[in-house]
Amino acid sequence: MNYDQKVQLLIIGDSTVGKTSILSRYTNGEFNPHYLATVGLDFFKKDEVFNGKTIRIKIWDTAGQERYKSLTQGYFRNAEGIMIVYDVTNAVSFENLKYWIQSIKTHIDIDKGEVPAIIIGNKIDIFEREVKKEDAEAFAKEQKFNYFETSAKNGDGINECVKFLVKTILRNNNDKEEELEKKFIQINKENENNNKSSKKMDKCCGKD
Ligand code: GDP
Ligand code: MG
Repeated sequence: MNYDQKVQLLIIGDSTVGKTSILSRYTNGEFNPHYLATVGLDFFKKDEVFNGKTIRIKIWDTAGQERYKSLTQGYFRNAEGIMIVYDVTNAVSFENLKYWIQSIKTHIDIDKGEVPAIIIGNKIDIFEREVKKEDAEAFAKEQKFNYFETSAKNGDGINECVKFLVKTILRNNNDKEEELEKKFIQINKENENNNKSSKKMDKCCGKD
């Protein structure tokens, strides 16, 4: 299938928070209740239409390296958006968000907003939460990330968070293009004005 544009995302967070399950739910609509350590397969893709354009969304998953907290520069290369996941039933995975955010910052300048990132609290279908929604929202706000809650098991919130991220990227790209166009028009105008005034100068000095 043909597509108009490609967007590359990546997903990070502690192991077992549900990263692979979120991607599997989003791209295949499937959920596997048994834990299968991700080996080999390291990306998922799906085509979606936004504003009449087909966007190929490619999401890179960690192939178990997150266990050793050893994500390399190569993993972050070409990322246009990032999903940072914790498990609402696991307070340690929430505490570790700080580590993951730091790890992104050593590779990418996310403070400039060029690579949007969101925080996702997963497994909200389980009632025994260890992390309150308000606490997670407050943390996300303090760190300047948008916050979403999902369940890969029943699908709640999954489409919304991916769509938000992709839309933000497409909007940023559009803004950048418009900015470039404006600059280009401005430069052309300046050149035109310069040409006019140098012609005038030539005339006044009898060179014509
Ligand atoms: P990863 O290591 O972050 O990729 O985590 P996995 O996607 O492999 O999920 C780890 C375990 O949590 C698996 O047994 C999943 O079935 C389970 N799991 C993942 N997401 C959810 C969820 O939203 N709800 C529930 N109840 N279990 C989930
Ligand atoms: Mg996995």
